[in-house]
Amino acid sequence: MQLNQLTITEAAKGLRSREFSSEELTRACLAAIRERDKDIHAFLKISDRATDAAKEADKLFKNDPDTAPPLTGIPLVIKDNILIEGEYCTAASRMLENYIASYDATVIRKLKNQHAVLLGKTNMDDSAMGSSTESSYFGPTKNPHDLRRVPGGSSGGSGAAVAADMCIAGLGSDTGGSIRQPASFCGIVGMKPTYGAVSRHGLIAMASSLDQIGPLTKTVADAEILFDAIRGQDGFDATVAPEDSFSDEPMPEKIRIGVPKEYFSDGLDPDVKDTITKLLAACEWAGAQLHEISLPHSSYALPGYYIIVPSEVSANLARLDGIRYGYHESKSMTLFDVYAQSRAAGFGPEIKRRIMLGTYALSAGYYDAYYTKAQQVRRLISDDFSDAFAKVDILIGPTTPTPAFLCGEKTNDPLKMYLADIYTVAINLAGLPGMSIPAGFVMRDGIKLPVGLQIIAPRFHEKQLFAIGKIIETLP
Ligand code: GLN
Repeated sequence: MQLNQLTITEAAKGLRSREFSSEELTRACLAAIRERDKDIHAFLKISDRATDAAKEADKLFKNDPDTAPPLTGIPLVIKDNILIEGEYCTAASRMLENYIASYDATVIRKLKNQHAVLLGKTNMDDSAMGSSTESSYFGPTKNPHDLRRVPGGSSGGSGAAVAADMCIAGLGSDTGGSIRQPASFCGIVGMKPTYGAVSRHGLIAMASSLDQIGPLTKTVADAEILFDAIRGQDGFDATVAPEDSFSDEPMPEKIRIGVPKEYFSDGLDPDVKDTITKLLAACEWAGAQLHEISLPHSSYALPGYYIIVPSEVSANLARLDGIRYGYHESKSMTLFDVYAQSRAAGFGPEIKRRIMLGTYALSAGYYDAYYTKAQQVRRLISDDFSDAFAKVDILIGPTTPTPAFLCGEKTNDPLKMYLADIYTVAINLAGLPGMSIPAGFVMRDGIKLPVGLQIIAPRFHEKQLFAIGKIIETLP
């Protein structure tokens, strides 16, 4: 086994026992990047500080191996909408092509405090809006399982980098599925924490009532290590909840798994359905109780999401006006022209679509018909989950309706692209933690493509989510 193929758990053990150094581990990842990334294009920037950081970590192991934090010397990748001081942070958008971050995001500060090795910044959909990483201003990322297919999105670069063993693990962000959907398409673990578990200070905001940063990893145990490293209160993000919000109830002897019937109806690929159903049967065989439950407002999740997100996008992206931030069109004469032309040239088509829809939905006269209505729908969706969690401990269903689709298959049809997130957006609307874990494979054109299973837990029940994930991960 090559060093770059290791998990966080394995690498941390090897580093501690001095079996290999962080420098060797980092060099193995850099070699894998040189070999594979010309085809995959997961990276926007490879850090020139990585080997130095690895050498620092090695010193720590030499001097005081017992006190080294769990991520010391572990090479990680970071989605390019998370700020690292002194480095480009583009959100894969022309708008921020030349933006250099002036401070570290809180999650980055925490990783640096643990002496993790930050290998590079990964590709994503333009401004995190998309489900395939095809809308990146810097060109698409490919799925390591089949280069003709998308890795999912918007955190497709981090997903592909982890799946192709070009790093040990990575961070992404998830507003409506952007960690879980690429994890599912790439055959890895992707976890979106409870809204309020992880600080977003230094994350380029998309839709602030939904955005969360979370881990993309090779195993559930690794996702837990990375989540524990980044979570916690922060004076810079008032939405982060205090430590005692997290539940530490033990898991019941007989776990009650709720299977939402709406997640297994029309539109779900039969092979994906089969894979998930088999794994559910294995859960039952292992001692869990399966209960069919209903989330009656499921069909309103996507329409509600696509009112709330554009509304928040239109507000958050207002600062990208070519003066305060972003691409600047200097030929223009009047201030209005500078705004209009900078935004016309800097934003990709999907961003413009959302800004226009959002501005419309928030405008006087339409606000109640769209935005207020969507917020009411959001409450109903949240209540569906509360009702479900009164009867069961967790929910399980597919992460996505299909395996990875072909590049170009959905780029001309935004609605088809939006449907890729049909099972993930409701979890963000309700603020719940959700995790995609590999469930098996389906064959497409003679190639094995991964399928992801989504586990959903009540708010701040991450501990239970990981515990169940670890059991399911080992089932046949
Ligand atoms: N694909 C979804 C969207 O485009 C989710 C994006 C995300 O989670 N950042 O809105």
